[in-house]
Amino acid sequence: MDCLFCKIIAGEIPSTKVYEDDKVYAFNDINPAAPVHILIIPKVHIASAAEVTAENADIVGHIFEVAAKLAKEKGLDNGYRIVTNCGDDAGQSVHHLHFHLIGGRFLGLKMVED
Ligand code: 5GP
Ligand code: ZN
Repeated sequence: MDCLFCKIIAGEIPSTKVYEDDKVYAFNDINPAAPVHILIIPKVHIASAAEVTAENADIVGHIFEVAAKLAKEKGLDNGYRIVTNCGDDAGQSVHHLHFHLIGGRFLGLKMVED
């Protein structure tokens, strides 16, 4: 499958790994929006949040467990944001489900652009 993040998981495209287990891979975003900007992705290809079903939803809980662990490890004690962009209106640019873990500075109060 021609998927950038599947290739990153397979090691065909280099990335800076932050965490890995049998179900999940986490790595630094190539274009960080904040001092900490980690992408957490399932190893199984799920195109977006719109493709989460009763059959594959367990991975989302596991990703949040990993996010909490990584946030503690990275010292994000003052808070952080977890974001998943889904579809064109959200600007999703890679069609493999991914959660941005962003922190290390004040992130502002706006949820979205005006
Ligand atoms: P989206 O816009 O789909 O929510 O997020 C995609 C993210 O993937 C962006 O923040 C972008 O910087 C990141 N990204 C795109 N290509 C690569 C890459 O080759 N390596 C890494 N580490 N991040 C990437
Ligand atoms: Zn993929």
